Amino acid sequence: MPQKKKSVLIIGAGLGGLSTALRMAVKGYEVSIIEKDSKPGGRLNELKQDGFTFDMGPSFFSMSYEFDEFFKYCGIENPLEYQQLDPLYVVNFAGSQRKFHIYKDLDKLTQEFEDLESGFRKKLDAYLKSAGEIFHDTEYKIVKRNYKNKLQYMATMTTVPWKHAPRMLRSMWTELEKYFDSHEIKVIFSLVGFFLGATPFDTPAVYKLLNYTELVHDGYWNIKGGMYRITEALVKELDKRGVKIVYNTEIKGFQENGTGLKNFVDQHGKNWQADIYVSNSDAAAFRGTVLGRKKYTEEKLDQLDWTLSPFTIYLGVKGKIDGLHHHNYFLGNNFKEYADKIFKTSVSPEKPYYYVNVNSKSNPECAPEGCENLFILCPMPDLRFKKDWSDAESLADNIIEDLGKRCEYDIKNNIISRKLMTPIEWRDKFNLYKGSGLGLAHGMNQVGGFRPSNKDEEFDNLYYVGASTVPGTGLPIVVISSKLVTERVLHEHSLV
Ligand SMILES: Cc1cc2nc3c(=O)[nH]c(=O)nc-3n(C[C@H](O)[C@H](O)[C@H](O)COP(=O)(O)OP(=O)(O)OC[C@H]3O[C@@H](n4cnc5c(N)ncnc54)[C@H](O)[C@@H]3O)c2cc1C
Repeated sequence: MPQKKKSVLIIGAGLGGLSTALRMAVKGYEVSIIEKDSKPGGRLNELKQDGFTFDMGPSFFSMSYEFDEFFKYCGIENPLEYQQLDPLYVVNFAGSQRKFHIYKDLDKLTQEFEDLESGFRKKLDAYLKSAGEIFHDTEYKIVKRNYKNKLQYMATMTTVPWKHAPRMLRSMWTELEKYFDSHEIKVIFSLVGFFLGATPFDTPAVYKLLNYTELVHDGYWNIKGGMYRITEALVKELDKRGVKIVYNTEIKGFQENGTGLKNFVDQHGKNWQADIYVSNSDAAAFRGTVLGRKKYTEEKLDQLDWTLSPFTIYLGVKGKIDGLHHHNYFLGNNFKEYADKIFKTSVSPEKPYYYVNVNSKSNPECAPEGCENLFILCPMPDLRFKKDWSDAESLADNIIEDLGKRCEYDIKNNIISRKLMTPIEWRDKFNLYKGSGLGLAHGMNQVGGFRPSNKDEEFDNLYYVGASTVPGTGLPIVVISSKLVTERVLHEHSLV
């Protein structure tokens, strides 16, 4: 008689949970998922309103080959239709009509910048060469691997070529100053620092590798029809393999027996039992709020560094807006002052910096004919610092007014559909700690062996996947996280 396969219960149907579920299902485990929201996807979600379809959160990604690797691992033909962003994005600084087109084609990029920076191409090539070396010297050695403990991580770090060491100590901004004089160029190349949860003035220069990933290596992509097609594709494959997802169910507690974790308990007191558990809920916050670990009390979680919170505005607008591309950054002209304040101030910035995504530009089916769908993302201090969001509507009005002027279109008077999500809604919908949008930040003290591990410290049958465990945040990185945790489970627990 065949032996019974081990069961795996995954908590959370975000990209991390869904991709782990599929990897484990194809390996032969009996997998099920529970999710607090009414839909799958977590932050990789979609909003439909008044005939418009919006990407709710992620709107593009790098390292598309991680999705290829994922589907290959699962033995499935990749069902996703990638669309490469070209230009990657467009940047406008307040007070100027000029729009910088950031092209992956470096000849075209040079044409954009050469009037600002003499010898730009030579400087760019030198900057990107060193960025590429950091990327390739750490990708497999450091990023794509599991660590048993801090010591093992530190020992592994010593195998990275020493020439990169100074870049762990100096900031990304200092690094950029070594190569470029133009303020605009330094600001534009340093924007990636904000994704990691710090300003370019305190992000280590090693993260210039992200400039290499965007400009040289793989560029940026999105998905035909909207980013939610990723979630749908995963759910379809899980469905074929009989993996059930139970919605509107939130894990609030647990029970242990003498040997380990016995079961989790949901908001109604129902027990959920399996042989192995994988939490896709925030790896730091879950340890504190659900498991009650002393190292992760609210006081201690508050002392960690978290990425900025999203304030998002979804607008259905009548008319076609020529002054906007698919991906646009609208920046102020007080960058240092903004960077110094944005992580830790309790008030809304007077001159917000924001990103605008118009996916109807390449996916006309996402808006009614003759209309555009605008998704505006304004990074904000998290709820530790800005607790009061009673100013959300007026802040949104300011941004819409500003955007209208800068793209020369009367957006305000052509709005057909409008919805806001403040950090409070983001926190409550997906259990994002204090509304932090991308989870734990990525300073040197919060990565690798210093990030909450994907293996629980106390329970041998509890694992973690997603943005706040290893390797870190962002869609392709979370897909890597699902591989790391699957390999760890396969290594530590037999299939039957
Ligand atoms: C506004 C915004 C824009 C972004 N833009 C980009 C982008 O353009 N490109 C990019 O690469 N990345 C982007 N990101 C980051 C990206 O969305 C995340 O890194 C990634 O989606 C995280 O996936 P995850 O599976 O770790 O977590 P999540 O998507 O948060 O999934 C976790 C799931 O677990 C559920 N859950 C939590 N706690 C419990 C519980 N106790 N019981 C049951 N269920 C629970 C949640 O409801 C959620 O569905 C963006 C994020 C935000 C917020």
